[in-house]
Amino acid sequence: MKKKISKTQAKKEIQEFFSHINHKTPEQVKKIKKLAMAHNIELGDKRKLFCKKCFSPYKHPSVRIKNDFITISCESCEHKSRWKFKGNLNFGIKRKETGDCC
Ligand SMILES: [Zn+2]
Repeated sequence: MKKKISKTQAKKEIQEFFSHINHKTPEQVKKIKKLAMAHNIELGDKRKLFCKKCFSPYKHPSVRIKNDFITISCESCEHKSRWKFKGNLNFGIKRKETGDCC
């Protein structure tokens, strides 16, 4: 990703990336976050798809919902993330539940 890309392209790339988040490494997550920051693109709920501490994508996280708060423990570093449960989360991506992509 050395060439300069437009914001639209960057958005597309980020969208694409998060559609396959389960197959990504923490290094790749870090890179895409940098790309988003460079283009001033909000990740929004997509930030909840990976650990903000070690950048590992959540694959089989332990999720707990209590009093409208979701708690996710990272399986790599055990860092706990918590956010308010809004009914449904909008990741802005189509997620393949079967996981037979890539
Ligand atoms: Zn972590």
